[in-house]
Amino acid sequence: MFIYISGLKKSYMSGEVKTEVLKGIEMQLEKGEVGVILGPSGSGKSTLMNILGGIDRCDSGKVLVDGVEINKLNENQLTDFRREDIGFIFQFYNLVPNLTVGENIEVVSNISKSPFNIDEVLKAVEMQDKKHRFPRELSGGEQQRVSIARAIVKNPKLLLCDEPTGALDFQTSRSILKLLQKVNKEFGTTILMITHNAAIAAMANRVFKVRSGEIVETVVNQVTVPAE
Ligand code: ADP
Ligand code: ADP
Repeated sequence: MFIYISGLKKSYMSGEVKTEVLKGIEMQLEKGEVGVILGPSGSGKSTLMNILGGIDRCDSGKVLVDGVEINKLNENQLTDFRREDIGFIFQFYNLVPNLTVGENIEVVSNISKSPFNIDEVLKAVEMQDKKHRFPRELSGGEQQRVSIARAIVKNPKLLLCDEPTGALDFQTSRSILKLLQKVNKEFGTTILMITHNAAIAAMANRVFKVRSGEIVETVVNQVTVPAE
């Protein structure tokens, strides 16, 4: 089991008021799979992703990523885990505006232990021709392709995507998702993605439906990657 989560709980305090955001999450994802977390706003999706990515800590429960119990890591170990093992993709691409496409990826590649080749990664996201362009010269979909390349180049074990298609139209969203599936096949990266979009979710291996801090249903899909 690549991701194994059991009894995961997380609360936030706002003044005197304690809100339980995650109420005992149970979920599992196999290595190399694409998983989707589907649920309404405020249901705890981002909190769950942040805990998996080592950005936040849980209060109790078990969280194992590739056999590592991340809630038992100390701060330095957690930082290393986040830097080396996790790739993040966000709704808004967060590219560095005054660096070219190639340079945006190089920055990450340079600090990685076993990076993939930059040109290979650019080719995988079909952006090899735009290597010397700046982010402002690219469309939203193209910028997201670059941010996928940047996340994947460090050769992460797990790619966490928070609404990666949230700012894109449906056709572009589909192509980004197809690309993530291709990256997943080509580089063997396990992918977990948050989405509000049920059509996008239908293309994943596993769908975790979240309602107010609990997984209310897990759907296992027979996924066939559509031909180009
Ligand atoms: P959704 O994905 O459903 O659109 P978000 O995940 O962006 O919603 O966030 C929901 C709300 O929780 C937002 O107002 C966001 O600012 C807040 N939030 C999420 N994560 C954090 C955090 N780590 N610290 C503070 N506020 C947060
Ligand atoms: P989702 O991603 O499903 O929209 P979130 O995980 O962002 O949900 O947030 C779940 C709930 O937890 C929301 O009510 C949000 O405002 C709250 N929340 C998230 N992060 C924080 C934080 N750091 N401090 C306080 N409340 C938070």
